[in-house]
Parts: sequence; structure tokens; C-alpha cells
Amino acid sequence: MLRDTTKLLGIKDPNITILLVLKHQSHIEIRAKLDYQPPLCPHCHGKMIKYDFQKTSTIPILDVQGMPTLLKLKKRRFQCKDCHKVSVARTSLVKKNCQISEPVLKKITQAHTQKLTNSDIANQLHISVSTVQRKLTQFTFKERYHHLPQVLSWDEFARNKGKLAFIAQDYNTKKIVTILENNRKITIKNYFYKYPRKVREFVKVVTVDMSGSYIPLIKQLFPKAKIVLDRFHIIQHLNRAMMSTRIAIMKRYDKKSLPYRAMKNHWRILHKDSRKLSLKLFYSRTFRQTLTPKEIVHKTLQFSDELRYYYNLYQLLLFHFQQKNTHQFMALIEDNYHLVNHAFKTIFRTFKKYKEYIANALEFPYSNAKLEATNKLIKDIKRQAFGFRNFNNFKTKILIALNIKRERIKLILSRT
Ligand SMILES: [Zn+2]
Repeated sequence: MLRDTTKLLGIKDPNITILLVLKHQSHIEIRAKLDYQPPLCPHCHGKMIKYDFQKTSTIPILDVQGMPTLLKLKKRRFQCKDCHKVSVARTSLVKKNCQISEPVLKKITQAHTQKLTNSDIANQLHISVSTVQRKLTQFTFKERYHHLPQVLSWDEFARNKGKLAFIAQDYNTKKIVTILENNRKITIKNYFYKYPRKVREFVKVVTVDMSGSYIPLIKQLFPKAKIVLDRFHIIQHLNRAMMSTRIAIMKRYDKKSLPYRAMKNHWRILHKDSRKLSLKLFYSRTFRQTLTPKEIVHKTLQFSDELRYYYNLYQLLLFHFQQKNTHQFMALIEDNYHLVNHAFKTIFRTFKKYKEYIANALEFPYSNAKLEATNKLIKDIKRQAFGFRNFNNFKTKILIALNIKRERIKLILSRT
């Protein structure tokens, strides 16, 4: 009967015998002893005899009946008849010099692969946050340099104090290839040069954001890769130019005036792809009228010829972009280059400069959208507040959250 009890508690060691179970208000206390026939002396292989019991140690184990449970374990001590050294009985339940039971450690490991904060895990398992954290540092990921994905996505994300970290991901599997502490060219270069040229030549496409700063580096590292500017970022750039233009025009009006309020309150409608505007009527408090979004656009553009010009330009660019008319898209930029304001001129200059890669973006189905989802997850992990002053812990947590479920085998859980 007691044997079954120990099994239920996740205690597989048959040398542990439960002596007493005490149910306290806040927790369950299990008193047990660890005892077995004396083995040979670990020091001299001499014969040992049973000595006394070591001072009771308190070990958190998995909850019993939903209650935090503590195992108060007395461990047998043995003494060698030859060298007189004393040794303590060993158990598979807790590793040497460890205060946490193996089932709990397994639970921590498992919890790390779920989207739980370190403090959530600590609360769930009634252990200290530092224990959870220590476990995190024991995850190590083996870096191997004999394979790179065919389609690679590059991006960066903000880590603490506005520093940017670099992330590369397999476009198809979403698996993270690497996370680097900063996005400096030398850091990225040093990392990818660990791969032999043959492996790097396997990369056929690299998707990257609009900044363009990585382009020379990509050409150098991946001689056979096509560079694809990310569609999401191209549209985002257009959007931002339209946003600052609309705001600049709007600010020329009095804040209480109808043009100002229309441009301000209905900005979403003005930025939306005009082909996707809904036909539903709704009450606009700005116009004090029931209108469709299309009518709102029409009415607002009547206030300013300038706004109308940018609106039409923006909508046309969106249209050609989505229709994958690279030629028309670029022609529109050429034609309007000398007519537009600073915001548009800046993005047009970039578009012209990276024309080839924009064309690739229209031609190939790849976008960094998948990486954006990863970045969201990274943000969630960052929001888990603490502990990530250490970049390695942060990186580990991200890798656990994103890679482990996909590739458990590659994970090596080392013990320190
Ligand atoms: Zn001995």
C-alpha cells in the first residue's frame, strides 16, 4: 500500500519509505526516510555499516490533492569500517546537492516550454523564482553549422534600453536559426561565417526589412540568394508617409474646425485600401450624419486638394503593389518623385534604390509576416518583466518557446 503511495507521489525510489503524512492548513507534509543496505565505500571500496540519519531535508514535490507538498526526508548515513569516512544515502529523487525533486525539475522544464512567466512557474510549483531561473540557464542549444534553410528571414527586435537584437528564422518551418545579442554587421558576419561557403550557398532567398542596411552583407554571405524586401515593411513605409502627410495638412486647420476633425477622427478610413472600404452606413459624429466610409473619404478630400493628391497617389501605389504591377508601381514613383513632400520623397528614394528587391517582393510569395508573429511572441516574453537583463536567459527562453516543440530531440538538457 505504501509502495503505491510513493509511486503516486512521483517517488520512484523504492528505498524511500513514507513514515507519516500530515495535512496542514496550507500544505501537506510527508515524512519519509531513505534507507538501504550499505553499499561499498565510495572512497576506498571498503565495507560500510549503517550509521545514523542525516538532518532532515525539505524537498518540494509535486502537489498532492492540489496542495503544495513538502517531503521531509531523512537520509541514512553510512560509515566505512576501513577509512571511517561517512557518506549519505543517494536517491534518484533528488540529485546530489539539490533541494528540488526530479519530478518538480521535470515540471519546470516542461513549464518553460509553455508560455509561462518564471514567476507563474514558481507559484505553480511552490518553489523560488531563482530556482526556475537556474533551470532556465541549464538549457543549452547545440549550434551546428552544417545546414541553413533555403529561405531565411532576417529581422531585428528591440531588447532592453532600445538595443536591437538580431534574429534569423527559417521562413518555412519558423524555426529560429539564431538570435544574436546585437545587430552589428560584425556580429552577424562572425556568426554566419561559421557556416562553410557550401552551406551558405544553399540559401536561395533572404527576406529583410526596408532599412536596406543588411543588403551588402547578405550579398557577401549568401552569394546565391535573392534578396526580398518584406512586403509588410514596404506597405508600412507607405503608410507612415501617408500618416505624416495627413497630419501635416490637418495641422494647418483650427482644431475645432470640421476639416481638422474629419482628418483626425476618420484617419483609419483615410488610410484604408479604398477597395476594401465597407459599404455600411454608420453615424459619423464628426459630420453629424449617417454616411458610408466612402462618403466620408469623399467629403474629407473636398477640404484639401493636397490631401486629395496624396490620397490618390497612396491608393494607386497600394493598388499596383497588390496587383503586383512592379512596372506601374515604379513608374508612379518616377512620375511623382519631384512633386511629393519630404516624407514621400524619402520613401520613394528608398524604393528607387532597392527597386530590384521590391520587384522580388512582388514576384516571390515570401514575406516577413511569419517573423512578425515571432516578434510578437518575443514581446510577450519581454513583458514577463524580469530576469532578462541577462541576454542569454532571454535568448534561451525564446528558443525554448519557439524551437523546442518543433525539435525536442535537438535540445540537450545539461546539468550543471
Ligand atoms: Zn572507505
